[in-house]
Amino acid sequence: MQGKLNVQTENIFPVIKKFLYSDHEIFLRELVSNAVDATQKLKTLSTRGDFKGELGDLTIDIKLDAKKKTLTVSDRGIGMTAEEVEKYINQIAFSGVTDFMEKYKDSHEPLIGHFGLGFYSAFMVADKVEIFTKSWKEEPAQHWSCEGNPEFEMKEDKKADRGTDIVLHVADDCKEFLEEHTLLQLLKKYCRFMPVAIRFGEETVWVDSETECDKDGNPKRVEKKQPRIVNDPDPAWKKSPSGLTDEDYKKFYHELFPMNFEEPLFQIHLNVDYPFNLTGILYFPKVRKTIDPNRNKIQLYCNQVFVTDQVEGVVPDYLMLLHGVLDSPDIPLNVSRSYLQSDGNVKKISQHISKKVADKLEEMSKKKEGEEKSALEEKWDDIKIFVQYGMLTDEKFCERAMKFYLLKGVDGSYYTLDSYREKIKALQTDKDKTVCYLYASNLEEEHAYIEKAKAKGYDVLLMDSPLESHFINLLEQKLEKTRFVRVDSDTVEKLIPHDDTIPEKLSKEEQEKLKPIIEGEVDKQRFTVQLESLEQDDAPMQVTQSEFMRRYREMAQTSGGGMGFYGELPESYNLVVNVNHPLVGKVLSEVDGERQKGLVRQLVDIALLGSGLLKGEALGGFLKRCVEMMGEGSGGQ
Ligand code: ADP
Repeated sequence: MQGKLNVQTENIFPVIKKFLYSDHEIFLRELVSNAVDATQKLKTLSTRGDFKGELGDLTIDIKLDAKKKTLTVSDRGIGMTAEEVEKYINQIAFSGVTDFMEKYKDSHEPLIGHFGLGFYSAFMVADKVEIFTKSWKEEPAQHWSCEGNPEFEMKEDKKADRGTDIVLHVADDCKEFLEEHTLLQLLKKYCRFMPVAIRFGEETVWVDSETECDKDGNPKRVEKKQPRIVNDPDPAWKKSPSGLTDEDYKKFYHELFPMNFEEPLFQIHLNVDYPFNLTGILYFPKVRKTIDPNRNKIQLYCNQVFVTDQVEGVVPDYLMLLHGVLDSPDIPLNVSRSYLQSDGNVKKISQHISKKVADKLEEMSKKKEGEEKSALEEKWDDIKIFVQYGMLTDEKFCERAMKFYLLKGVDGSYYTLDSYREKIKALQTDKDKTVCYLYASNLEEEHAYIEKAKAKGYDVLLMDSPLESHFINLLEQKLEKTRFVRVDSDTVEKLIPHDDTIPEKLSKEEQEKLKPIIEGEVDKQRFTVQLESLEQDDAPMQVTQSEFMRRYREMAQTSGGGMGFYGELPESYNLVVNVNHPLVGKVLSEVDGERQKGLVRQLVDIALLGSGLLKGEALGGFLKRCVEMMGEGSGGQ
């Protein structure tokens, strides 16, 4: 029989060929998944008792004949009768293609994943395609062939074995698909977890020899060639979580990401059938200080067929930091990305994943009996930034996470938000009834400030992630009557202002005289001199940096754009002068101008030294003056 495919345009094949140019490779996924479907259908017929014959070996074979320039995909599935070829290949399959072309011919949007044109995607790489097929029903085999134009030929064939062989005569401009390593790569990418075994070429393995022994009488290890099975038909995510150990999950992680040598921290096994169908395993990797820009580590499958690892829009942004697989027949894959993002099912799936992640973290935050730390405390440092990112970007997740989020003290202990408030409330509530959370971002650089706060009985948190300034803002909004202040943002008395004021030893006039003397010795662009009435035994001068300005600067630097103004502000500090300190009094009473300047310089340098700002040449000069002064001191005695 000869026939003409039902198409409006004569040259639809060149169009197919050009269509998803960069995605030519998906033809293989399409053909192998058809073979898988045909095999699965036969299995179903057999279990139902409709098919009574032997199933036999159902392995799908991919054969390459570089000389003849053919690539063959063979299955031992249900096959097709003449009538079925006519219906499924000539009519339905083709109408699918024409619909698709019609719908997307004017679209410039990238299609999600790699939209499959089904059987006809074979024409993206072949200039002639043949089908040899024999149905499981007692009917003659068929041979269909088509040379990339709307005409096809169909006749009876001698094929004796049940199943279908699809033979592609690979076009000259697609020679890469005649190379074994290219095909192997594609099979590994798209078919790695398809549910029926797929055989392609051979591999070499080491086995015990059956005939030869080594000098100790043990069987010799010898090389052996065997057919290569390219897939794992029964991947972990399809199994029941109760039957899997932590080891199994880790093993599967390495199977998924052979190039990731680091162990994942823990995982979530998703298994939902209602109101949508979703399975998968998401692993928590260690999140580094910076957020990994290469985040395409979630693979999306549709019934074990790889679709894409570009999952933006399918999972919430912060979950893109996770690694693993998601498998759902309910995610529409044959649509554009913007459609996907507004799709109801996708939204539900995304919310579900987000909830599961929060549930898992909450469960981990519960301490088990006899354990010193909860599982969440154990892993907190490695996932904190992930949780912060989630809380900053996903309102619902944030609500849930407020229950288990952990604050970490500078001494390394962890607190939930509620328990921490209880702990500090008595001492750290200021005169306006606001609870002040003190924090440090760097244990070494802020050491002196931390110690001063501790000496006052205050508790200090360590908040050192790159998202911290944004996160602190969020907490200030979420927690009522709460303020976060970094330990170096004010003198320790003023960090948490109480009502008590200390009487000033210098009069207003004296202070007005003192200020310009000190201002004369500092860089006025960077330092604002502030006279304050502090305890007499407090430092004569200290450097502080306004919480507000510093935090907004940091936020501008990490959010890029929008807050540009803050990002461009120069770093500025306050030089707080304690008017009650005897040495400050001495500055004022010193009549010798040079000695007065020297004393101010020395006090300023000591303050800079305490805040880590005295570096390089300035530090050298300071130390030199110290040595000279020591010399003067001993000389005088
Ligand atoms: P889809 O697989 O999305 O239905 P295709 O164009 O890939 O669309 O295939 C059309 C139909 O042709 C299939 O639904 C199936 O009925 C039939 N078919 C394709 N390949 C095979 C095969 N290897 N064995 C049996 N039937 C097949």
